Amino acid sequence: MKAKSISLGGKRFGLYISKEMIARRVRELGREINHDFEGKTLVLLCVLNGSFIFAADLIRSLKIDCEFQTISAKSYGDLMESSGGVEISGLGEGIIGGKDILIVEDIVDTGNTMAALVNFLEKLSPLSINICSLLHKPELLVNEINIKYLGFTIPPRFVVGYGLDCAGKGRQFPDIYALTGSDTK
Ligand code: 5GP
Repeated sequence: MKAKSISLGGKRFGLYISKEMIARRVRELGREINHDFEGKTLVLLCVLNGSFIFAADLIRSLKIDCEFQTISAKSYGDLMESSGGVEISGLGEGIIGGKDILIVEDIVDTGNTMAALVNFLEKLSPLSINICSLLHKPELLVNEINIKYLGFTIPPRFVVGYGLDCAGKGRQFPDIYALTGSDTK
């Protein structure tokens, strides 16, 4: 029986996207990616930490040839608002050049993180870069970001679970929860 609400750091979060809905959408995204990259080798670039569960599910829905790599991008710290600055680290050498890259992200909010990531990766001469994001809050977008594979569009509410955290906690919940009450961002 799944929890209808959870409490993290004194804040209450209500069930928002069930694990069943997530699983269905991940399968659909996998089908699209299988179709678009048939006959090619795709490098899934999982953006840590938030995307580790999504990327693990997504790669298991793929039948095409694929590799798995990770990169770290930090933008939020312990706050629930985008800080603007993005720190990118942890990418091994020779991973990007001449390859088809699929950035696998948990959520695109202002787009600052994704814009910084794409800018960083483009300098490493990939064959192509595409973006797959589980969630997107278009109302807060301040950058032009083309999310080719998108799980769900959501309003500007702070969400946790399925890899997404609140001050480091809550990543382990299989469902996604949204902050409730007047303070929903
Ligand atoms: P952006 O740079 O697009 O504003 O923010 C992207 C990053 O902020 C995401 O990778 C994620 O780490 C974090 N983020 C944005 N919105 C949320 C949210 O609602 N919940 C959580 N847990 N993280 C978020």
